[in-house]
Amino acid sequence: MTDASPLRPESLVVRADGFLCPQTGAVVPQIHTSSTYARDDVDYAQIGGRGYSRDDNPSYEVVERVLAQLEEGAAAKLFASGMAAVAAVFQSLSPGDHVVVSREAYFGTPKWLREWGIPWGLDVTFADTTDLTALSRAVRPGATRLVFVETPANPSWCVTDIAGAAEIARRAGARLVVDNTSATPVLTRPLGLGADLVVHSATKYLNGHTDVVAGAVVTATEDAFWERIGRLRFLAGAVLGPFEAWLLLRGMRTLFVRVRQACASALSIAEHFADHPAVAQVCYPGLPAFPGHAVAARQMTGGFGGMLSLRLAGGEAATLKAIKRCRVFIRATSLGGVESLIEHRATIEGDDSDVPADLLRLSVGCEALDDLIADLEFALSL
Ligand code: PLP
Repeated sequence: MTDASPLRPESLVVRADGFLCPQTGAVVPQIHTSSTYARDDVDYAQIGGRGYSRDDNPSYEVVERVLAQLEEGAAAKLFASGMAAVAAVFQSLSPGDHVVVSREAYFGTPKWLREWGIPWGLDVTFADTTDLTALSRAVRPGATRLVFVETPANPSWCVTDIAGAAEIARRAGARLVVDNTSATPVLTRPLGLGADLVVHSATKYLNGHTDVVAGAVVTATEDAFWERIGRLRFLAGAVLGPFEAWLLLRGMRTLFVRVRQACASALSIAEHFADHPAVAQVCYPGLPAFPGHAVAARQMTGGFGGMLSLRLAGGEAATLKAIKRCRVFIRATSLGGVESLIEHRATIEGDDSDVPADLLRLSVGCEALDDLIADLEFALSL
């Protein structure tokens, strides 16, 4: 290593991009709570180049810079939640624009589109983006403005080929947006595979401690569309609070160790339960028999994620019985924290859910693997 060689991503995020306060020597950035910034008494000019904290707070800057580098992008913007980030991307289009969206995705995305995006005027086609032929059929060359994919996708963890989707989007004249929440930049860097934008629910792995709701958008290039997304954040104000931005950075510093631990445990759990008599199917991209395994092995580096789902052989009644017997996995929605969570997605999503009633979604955290396996063994031993 020479003085000039750049830090590897894991070092960069651990060190918060080398932050060191020149005035105090502090190695942790401070929280800037001021909602407004003063002007001087000479020219009535902004003293520090800032006017108002909606959209313009120094607490965001290190986080955005680190995230942009992790995702190999040109710039990043934090939002008040993952859904605020997702909505900002769609709202930066115009009524009448055609978009293609993964049929399988976090249920809030299609819900937002059905309740707000489509009534506002977006023309939305939901497609099986794991099938590139189906995606090719769904795009309308010259008319489709955006292709939005989630991979691996909630809750079956099916995999979309990002490079293949990027090529289809590019040929159609559309942007490709990837929800990289479950893979994280530790495992997948969609912009390097040809995507134009990445969105995150930073509530999940990026923060990793289940104590912040946050979102982010990262762009490959600072083009006119990126300007529009930034303008929307400024005007609509779905900004993150400075305290949350600070907590998010603190969580991100351990992103790589947490994700690697979660991946190793999730793979072991998937392998352990693959032939279990109470389990009809383990949905996990790391298993060679999983339909998207080959694509996942190509585009994910260092692991297949900390998320998996179990479909139980005993149907809905056995599934609801099993989840109530867990003592280590916490029965709660969400994912990506250090504590392992388990949920019955069909119940969480409600009446219009098409998630199978025999499916349990697991977010594998950082507890001892033996405790997690023993907990699931007990839960399934009905
Ligand atoms: N994208 C994915 C893949 C998610 O899992 C979630 C939330 O679970 C979201 C987006 C929305 O994020 P948030 O809850 O931070 O608004």
